[in-house]
Amino acid sequence: MFKSVHPFDQSIVAQYDVLSAAELDKCLETSASAYRHWRKTSFEHRRELILTVAGLLRKNKEKYARLMTLEMGKLLSESTIELEKTIRGCEYYAHHAEDFLRDEIIYTEATKSFVTYQPTGAILGIMPWNFPFWQVFRFALPALMAGNVALLKHAPNVTGCALAIAALFKEAGFPDGVLQSLVIDVDLVERIIASPVVQGVALTGSEYAGSQVASLAGKHIKKSVLELGGSDPFIILSDANLDKTVKVAVQSRMQNAGQSCIAAKRFIVLESIREEFMEKFERGIRALKQGDPFQEGITTGPMARIDLAEKLEQQLQKCIDAGAKLIVGGTRSGCNFTPTLLDNVKQGMPAFEEEIFGPVASVVTVKTIEEAIDVANASRYGLGASVWTEDLKKGEQVARLIESGSVFVNSLMRSDARLPFGGIKKSGYGRELSLAGIREFVNTKTISLT
Ligand code: NDP
Repeated sequence: MFKSVHPFDQSIVAQYDVLSAAELDKCLETSASAYRHWRKTSFEHRRELILTVAGLLRKNKEKYARLMTLEMGKLLSESTIELEKTIRGCEYYAHHAEDFLRDEIIYTEATKSFVTYQPTGAILGIMPWNFPFWQVFRFALPALMAGNVALLKHAPNVTGCALAIAALFKEAGFPDGVLQSLVIDVDLVERIIASPVVQGVALTGSEYAGSQVASLAGKHIKKSVLELGGSDPFIILSDANLDKTVKVAVQSRMQNAGQSCIAAKRFIVLESIREEFMEKFERGIRALKQGDPFQEGITTGPMARIDLAEKLEQQLQKCIDAGAKLIVGGTRSGCNFTPTLLDNVKQGMPAFEEEIFGPVASVVTVKTIEEAIDVANASRYGLGASVWTEDLKKGEQVARLIESGSVFVNSLMRSDARLPFGGIKKSGYGRELSLAGIREFVNTKTISLT
C-alpha cells in the first residue's frame, strides 16, 4: 500500500493499493492494443484531445492545485503556477508537434529519399514528486503527440496526482490505454521495461535511480532519457545589478522549498562585490516565512518527506563541521525546514559535491571570473546555470564556457517548452521539450526510392 501524507502536519491524505504482477501484465496488454490504434491517428485528432486536456486543467485548476499541495507540500500559489505552465506545455505541443515531425526530403542520387519520424510504442515515464503535474506532462505530451502511448510510474507520495492525471486524460476523451498510471513498486519496473510494447523510458529523479533504470534499459536494449540531479552554479560577476540578482537568487534557491533540479545551488560570487551581495542575500532569506503551504503570506512550504528533510539536515551539519558558516536558518521541525544561508562553502563539502535538495543556499567566494568558471565546472553535475552581469557580451562568453545543458544570463534558470532541457555529466543525457524532446522517442526512418 502507498500512503499519501501531507508534509506540513503529517496527516494521512489517502492510501492506495499497488498493482500485482498479473494486474500489471493486463495494463501492458491494454497499452499494446491502444498503441495499435493510436499510432494511426491524425495530428489533428491528437491536437484536439490535448487541447481538451488543457481546457480541463484550466477549469479544474483549483482542485488539482489543492491536491498537489496536500500531497507534496508546495505552496498553493506554486501549484497554480505549475498548472499554468502545464497548460502552456499542452498548447505548445498541440500546435507544434506536426511541424516537428514533418517528413524531410534529402537529395541523393535516388528518385526520392526522405526521413520520416514515426512512433515506436509505449514510453515509460518514471517521475518524481517535486513537480507532480508538469514533469509528467513534459514526458507525456511529446510522446502522445508523436503517436506513442504513455505509461506513468509516479513517485508513491503523489499517487493521488498520478491517478488524477490518468482520469483527466480519460475525461478528455483519450482512448483506454493511451495514458495509464501504474501504481507499482519499483520491483516491477524491469517487467515493464522488458515488455515488447515498451520502447523507451524517461526518468526524472536522482542519480542513483537514473543509473538503475538506465542499466535495465541497456539490458533490454530500450532507449532511455535521464533528467537527474544538479548542483547549478549561480555566478555573480562584479558588474551585476545586485537588486535584481538577489531577488532571483532567493527565488531560484527557495521556490518549491528548494526542491528543484534546476534550483541555483552554489552561489559563486566575485570577492569585489561579495559584501554587498551577502548583505542583500541574507536580508532576502530572512524575509521568507516558512509554514503552512495553504496559508497566504507563507513563502516557503514544508519539504515533501521527512527522510528528505533529515538527509538535508545531515548534509548541512557535515558542511558546518567542515568549516562552512551558518548565517541564518538551519532548523527543522518534521518536514518544515527554515530557509538557510551557508557561507564559506568549499569543494569537498556536501553542499558543493552533492545535490542539496532543500532550502539551503551555499555561497562560494572567488577572486576572478576564470576562477568562477573553474569552480562552476568543478561539479559532477551539469544541468543548468545562471550568470549575472550587466555586460551581455561577457555573459555570453562565460555561458559558453560553463559545462551544463543550459545557461541563463540575467534571468531565472527554468524549463520552457520552447527550449531543449536536460543535462550533461551526472545530470543525465537526452533532452526533453522543444523539437529535441519530441525526437527522442521516435523512429527516425530513412526511405529511399530509386
Ligand atoms: P528517486 O530518484 O529515488 O525517485 C524518483 C523516481 O524514481 C520515483 O518514481 C522513484 O520511485 C523512482 N525510482 C527510484 N529508484 C528506482 C529504481 N531502482 N528503479 C525504478 N524506479 C526507481 O528520488 P527520491 O524521491 O528518493 O529523492 C532522493 C533525492 O533524489 C533527492 O534528495 C534529490 O537529491 C534527488 N531528486 C532529484 C530530482 C530532480 O528533479 N532532479 C527529483 C527527485 C529527487 P520510488 O519512490 O517508488 O522508489
